[in-house]
Amino acid sequence: MSEIKKRFEELQSSTLKLRNSSAEERIEKLQSIWQGIIARKEDLFKAGAEERGCHEVDIAAELVMVKGEIDYVSKHLAKWVKPQKVKGSLSSFGKKSEIRYQSKGVVLNIAAYNAPTAECFVPAIAAIAAGNAIAIKPSEFAPASAQIIEEIIHEALPRSEADVFQGGVKVSQELLAQPFNHIYYTGGNNVGKIVMKAAADHFASVTLEMGGKSPVIIDETADLENAATKLAWGRVMNAGQVCIAPEYVVVHESRQAEFQKLISDKIQALYNSKGDGLENSEYVPRIINARHHKRITGLIKDAVKKGATIVTGGKADAKDRYIEPTVLTDMTEDMDIMNEEVFGPVMAVLPYKTREQALEIISHRPNPLAMYIYSKDDEAIEYFLTNTSSGSAVVNNNCVQAGTNPNLPFGGVGASGMGRSGGFEGFKEMSNARSIMHQPLDRFRDILMMLPPYSEKYQNLIMKGLK
Ligand code: NAD
Repeated sequence: MSEIKKRFEELQSSTLKLRNSSAEERIEKLQSIWQGIIARKEDLFKAGAEERGCHEVDIAAELVMVKGEIDYVSKHLAKWVKPQKVKGSLSSFGKKSEIRYQSKGVVLNIAAYNAPTAECFVPAIAAIAAGNAIAIKPSEFAPASAQIIEEIIHEALPRSEADVFQGGVKVSQELLAQPFNHIYYTGGNNVGKIVMKAAADHFASVTLEMGGKSPVIIDETADLENAATKLAWGRVMNAGQVCIAPEYVVVHESRQAEFQKLISDKIQALYNSKGDGLENSEYVPRIINARHHKRITGLIKDAVKKGATIVTGGKADAKDRYIEPTVLTDMTEDMDIMNEEVFGPVMAVLPYKTREQALEIISHRPNPLAMYIYSKDDEAIEYFLTNTSSGSAVVNNNCVQAGTNPNLPFGGVGASGMGRSGGFEGFKEMSNARSIMHQPLDRFRDILMMLPPYSEKYQNLIMKGLK
């Protein structure tokens, strides 16, 4: 038997014990994970700096997200695990109906590299809260973070309840061959298809947290200075390696020139306030590895070759994994950058004349994870919200909808994903919402009239239901 199979079966052996665990016991586990995270925070800061050149405050913000989730779940779990009574109907007359959120069994969490701590822990929090055993497969591209995550998990929980599997594609695929009950995946949608197909072999349910090209609409009425400030932050944060980052801006043609000037200025104001150059700024992170650096600079080169104009940026240093925050315009649909998620600090700007044209530009790409609308016109905002689709949307801001409000579930639609994470929705995702009906056995409520041979009274009653 392979090592992975053996470890999977060890997790599987805990299924019933974990299902029987109380809310208090589960909360205790989450709290000990949090104690472990806090004890290793300096190491996590160092790992983030080494892997992506991140400022420690950015890693701390990721940890705050994890804490917010643990706190919210701890506050509400006792209520969530109780049977939830639901109303009856005429057809269920006399019976009592309830929903019990029961653990699914063993959950696999395959994570990406861009926010390794949040991506490994947030799904694990929901899985543990719902009484599941959990296998975590961190990204091989963030190995220092992955090692610390493994140590935190092993310190907090027995291996029979939570295990961490280090490695790349081979390990991931061997894990996918095991009969997990639920698979939570964060990553690109090419691999998402592989995950979904593998899940089908065992009828495992899936949560797919993927990306895409999240658009921004800026209309004639927008506060441009405000929009440009927020968009400069949204695109440069984590060097653009953010699943909900604004990928391209569809701006009303009357505001395009002004917007391009403003966003160029705001990138400098936010990220080069000391004037030492963006490449020397402590706030401009690096691309995760040489492969992705080459891919992103390739997207810029391809766009320029096909006629794009660089509004600002364009420089890169492969040795340092640095890409200068870049804004492009004069885009055409045949450019690779218009069809591939950049996941780097490069933004495209496209003008529109009419609202229909803005929708037309957006419709060339599959449903994105996020969409941002900058406008002061309520009617225009409603129009754009109604006539587009995305996992989430924000009006007059960007990148603030994930991990900030546990009452607002997070996830994608179509090519950007399925299922939800965070708060009660995240807990439900890791649970089987089991419908339970109780039949009282007294003669007034235990009515067997629907059994053959059908009485005339029953036949009339059913036929009446058709009217
Ligand atoms: P990726 O798809 O390359 O890798 C993600 C995980 O899948 C890694 O753990 C990797 O080992 C594993 N994997 C890779 N190839 C595999 C294969 N052939 N079979 C099985 N497993 C495989 O993604 P990435 O480059 O690490 O992350 C970037 C992507 O993740 C972007 O598209 C981004 O938008 C998305 N993302 C989405 C969210 C979200 O919450 N929706 C969050 C972060 C990142």
